[in-house]
Amino acid sequence: MSANGVRPARAHASVDNLRTYLLAAARQAPDRPAVIQAAGSGLETVTYGELERRTDRIAEQLDALGLDVGDRVILEADTDADTVATFLACATVGLAFVPASPEAPDERLLTIIESAEPALHLQSLQGKRDCVPDSVGTARFGPDGLVVERAPEPRVRRRRAVTPIDTAYITFTSGTTGRPKGCVMPHRGIIAFLRGAAAEELITHEDRVASTAPFQFDFSLFDIGFTLSHGATLVPVPRARLNWPRRFLGHLNDAGVTQVDAVPSVWRPVVQHESEMLSDLGDSGTLRRIVFSGEAFPMDELRTMQKLLPKVAFTNGYGATETMAASITPVPNPLPEGVERLSIGHAVAGAEWTLVGPDGAIVDGPGVLGEIYLRTPSLFSGYWNDPEATRACVVPDPLDTASGRVVFKTGDLASMGEDGELYFHGRADSQVQIRGNRVELGEIELRVNQFDGVTGAVALVLPRADGDPQLHAFVTTADGAEPDTKELVAFCRAALPAYMIPQGVHTVGEFPLTPNGKVDRAKLSALVAS
Ligand code: ADP
Repeated sequence: MSANGVRPARAHASVDNLRTYLLAAARQAPDRPAVIQAAGSGLETVTYGELERRTDRIAEQLDALGLDVGDRVILEADTDADTVATFLACATVGLAFVPASPEAPDERLLTIIESAEPALHLQSLQGKRDCVPDSVGTARFGPDGLVVERAPEPRVRRRRAVTPIDTAYITFTSGTTGRPKGCVMPHRGIIAFLRGAAAEELITHEDRVASTAPFQFDFSLFDIGFTLSHGATLVPVPRARLNWPRRFLGHLNDAGVTQVDAVPSVWRPVVQHESEMLSDLGDSGTLRRIVFSGEAFPMDELRTMQKLLPKVAFTNGYGATETMAASITPVPNPLPEGVERLSIGHAVAGAEWTLVGPDGAIVDGPGVLGEIYLRTPSLFSGYWNDPEATRACVVPDPLDTASGRVVFKTGDLASMGEDGELYFHGRADSQVQIRGNRVELGEIELRVNQFDGVTGAVALVLPRADGDPQLHAFVTTADGAEPDTKELVAFCRAALPAYMIPQGVHTVGEFPLTPNGKVDRAKLSALVAS
């Protein structure tokens, strides 16, 4: 009971709730492993039954704090069984958790706290954060439940039920404005996505799925949700092991991992330093599938991986946090010669998309570039405290604007193949004007990438104080040597109009990455500025 005597809220058993959905396997087979995780120098298994017990204990303790449905809880952690139990406990009592990284600087966490106004900050027993303002309660979580350090301020409980439209979590992404943007995800959206994705039949309860994304990146929430909803086993890869190819692969091997979920950049150092060990994992080890998402896999790198892993299936997950994801597409292994772009296929079961051309017309056939509008039950509730940003991307269905139905305007450009499948062409906002001409940076990148020896390319338009903005290409090369700039420019000239020719070519050892492992374009442009 809370101060005003209202009972803690729960979701009715018949109602979609993440806790109920993800722990269904616990009911059927409590002894099955839910999580296999690092413990000291070895591994520890947490069963579904144990995960449920930990979840219940924490849910009870959260209840006792008197918070109301919808109150925010910062969950600062790396993925492990206790983090999962804590997030399932939040789902049980209707608290919205906000994942945060233990590696984030204080200032970044404080910006999120200022925006989300959480009731409570949770970190693991080992957590080192000590800058949480007094207005926010603090507690630590571990295998034995919560240790409350500072109780949250008392709340009025107005809610009696956790509904499917209540918020499960809010992920804060960097946002180009510098202000973090909070994506508010409801229970029903996440579950609708997971149900649709299950139709792809990627895993069964026997699979062991390695999760490599940081917990605050929703890719990890997909890993957790997708794995547990199949009654399979989640294998979180600790950051410290991820950064060392040999330890990373050793962890996969020891845990008997069958599927690895990772952004493409995770594989770069592995292929470079431990290609033989990787190859063994696919050949004589347990690895049978690699799922990548977050950005396009550079084609050269993908082909190299496939050569090392001829028996492993590759899967391309495409989409944005606002809808969890959009499509899950098999990648042929090996990729046929001449393929220049990966297919992002068709939207997952239960969702559908439409391409809209620059003139607002619906794109019906191959060869025309359009923006993807996604019709999906996994639509987010909106951006936290930002109705204007929400209105800009939750828009009337372009196929039937009178219907009252809304869709997600992705900001992603694509073209259609012969079978209606889509090919990703970059962000609509990477469409730039150069001397009055509309340019797709992705088209330039594609061409530069085809130059002999180039293994990766990023094109950027950089402002200049003393004149027109300039087009720059950043490249990585197979041997780290600079390509012959004159030849590279001539190679571009042979296929691209003059205004699309890079005026500066910069070779980098490797592309700088964002905390989520995607190419950090802002850092690249700073290279030129300095
Ligand atoms: P996610 O968490 O799914 O990576 P973000 O919201 O961080 O989502 O970024 C979404 C954007 O990342 C998409 O709109 C798209 O531009 C890009 N993206 C995601 N997955 C892919 C993919 N498989 N191929 C190409 N681009 C992708």
